[in-house]
Amino acid sequence: MAETYDAIVIGAGVIGAAIALELSRRGQHTLSVDKLPASGYGPTSSSCAIIRVYYSTLDGTALAYESYFDWKDWPQYLRVSDERGHARFFECGCLVMKTEMNGHLEKHCALAAELGIPHEHWHPAQIKERLPVYDLRRYGPPKRMDEPGFGEPTGGELAGGVFFPTGGYISDPQLATHNLQRAAEASGAEFLLGRAVVEIVEERGRVAGVVLDDGGRIAAPVVVNVAGPHSGAINKLARADRDMKISTKALRQEVVHLPAPAGFDFEKRGLVVSDSDIGCYCRPESGNHILVGSEDPPCDPREFVDPDDYDRDFSDQGTTQACRMGQRIPELGIPSRLQGVVDLYDVSDDWIPIYDKSAIPGFYMAIGTSGNQFKNASVVGRMMAALIEYCESGADHDAEPLQFRLEHIGRTIDVGFFSRLREVNPESSFSVLG
Ligand SMILES: Cc1cc2nc3c(=O)[nH]c(=O)nc-3n(C[C@H](O)[C@H](O)[C@H](O)COP(=O)(O)OP(=O)(O)OC[C@H]3O[C@@H](n4cnc5c(N)ncnc54)[C@H](O)[C@@H]3O)c2cc1C
Repeated sequence: MAETYDAIVIGAGVIGAAIALELSRRGQHTLSVDKLPASGYGPTSSSCAIIRVYYSTLDGTALAYESYFDWKDWPQYLRVSDERGHARFFECGCLVMKTEMNGHLEKHCALAAELGIPHEHWHPAQIKERLPVYDLRRYGPPKRMDEPGFGEPTGGELAGGVFFPTGGYISDPQLATHNLQRAAEASGAEFLLGRAVVEIVEERGRVAGVVLDDGGRIAAPVVVNVAGPHSGAINKLARADRDMKISTKALRQEVVHLPAPAGFDFEKRGLVVSDSDIGCYCRPESGNHILVGSEDPPCDPREFVDPDDYDRDFSDQGTTQACRMGQRIPELGIPSRLQGVVDLYDVSDDWIPIYDKSAIPGFYMAIGTSGNQFKNASVVGRMMAALIEYCESGADHDAEPLQFRLEHIGRTIDVGFFSRLREVNPESSFSVLG
C-alpha cells in the first residue's frame, strides 16, 4: 500500500466500489477503505437489488434508465472477469399497481413517455394471467396488523397496473460489488478492507487525507464519503455538514423472505411488483421464495437509529409486511420464524440522494441513497468521477453545476439536482420509491 493516493474512497459498498472503478478508469490512483472485511458487506449485501426505471422525478428516472443498460450487459461494462463469476441480472420486468396513492401512475407514465421507456398498461385480467395466485381486491390504504380493519377488503378491485419490461433484479448484490472491485483493481485501484477511517485530515483549507483506526495516515487531495448509513458521522468528522441544507440519517428496515404458495413457481414466473394498495413491494428470490419489503406507507413507523447500535432481529414490522403480502396472495404460508434481513437505509430529508462536493475543497459525498440507489451504481460512479474532475479543475459546481451526459439514453442532466444545498424536493415520493 502506498502512503499517497490521488483519491481515497470511504466505503466499499456498491456505489463506493463503482466510484473507485470510474475514477481509476480516468487514471486516478484510488484507495477504497472499508471497515468491514470485504467489499459490499454492509447494507449493499442486504439490498433487494431491484432494477426499476420508474421514479417520481425526471432526473431520478433518467438516471435509473441509463443504469439499466449497464446491468443489461454487465460483463461488457466490467471489461474483466471475476474468479467468483459475474452477478446476474434477471430481467423479469416490474409491475406497478395503479392506486389512488400513486395517482394511477399518470406522472410516472408521462416521465416514461418523455424518456422513451417502454411500458404497458395491464388490466386486471392480464395481471391474473401472469400471477394467477393474486387476489386483486383492494385493501388500501395500508394498515398495521394491530389497526382495526386490518385484512378486511375496502371495496372493489385494483384498476390494473403498469408493466415496465426493462427491469428486474440482481441475483447477488455483494457479488456485483466484488465484480466492481475486481474491475477497479484491473485499472489500478487498491482496496484496504477491515480498517475504519477515524479522522479526516484538513491542511491549508483543503482535505489532505485520512487517519485509520490503527493510527496509520494516508494522504490524498481528494476524499469521497460513500459510507452509507455512517455518511452523517463521516461528514461530521470532516465538518462538511456546516453548509448542508439536506441531512442524512440511518433508517432501520426489515425485508422478509416467504416461501411461494404451493404449485406456483414465483421464482420463474413471478416479477417485481410494487403495490401501494398493501404498502409492499416484492420480487422473486432463489429457492422459490418471495422477498417482501415495505414501501414506507404512513402507517409504518420510521425508526431512525444509531447505525452502530440497532436491533437486527425482526419486530412486528416483518410480520405486518408478510400479512399484507398475504392479502394479495391468500394461499401464502407465513412461517412462525421469519427469514430475511434487517438492515439500514441511509435516508436524506427528501429521499433523493446527495451527489455533490462539500464546503471543504477536495471532500465529496455520494450519500443519502435512501434504499433505492443500488441500481444506479455504475452511472453514479461515472457522474461522481466527472464531478470530481470538474471541481478539481477549478469549476464552481455550486454556482455553475456540472451538466452530465447520460450516454446510453442520449440526455444531459443537471447534477445540481442532487446538491447538498437544495431545498427539500416536493416532487419526491418521500419513500423508498424515490
Ligand atoms: C434492505 C435494503 C433493500 C434495498 N433494496 C434496494 C433495491 O431493491 N434497489 C435499489 O436500487 N437499492 C436498494 N437498496 C439501496 C442500496 O442497496 C444502497 O443505496 C446501496 O447499497 C448503497 O451503497 P453504498 O456504496 O453507498 O454503501 P453501503 O452498502 O451502505 O456501504 C457503506 C460502507 O461504508 C463503510 N463504512 C462506514 N463507515 C466507515 C468508516 N468510518 N471507515 C471505513 N468504512 C466505513 C461500511 O462498512 C459499508 O461497507 C436497499 C437497501 C437496503 C438496506
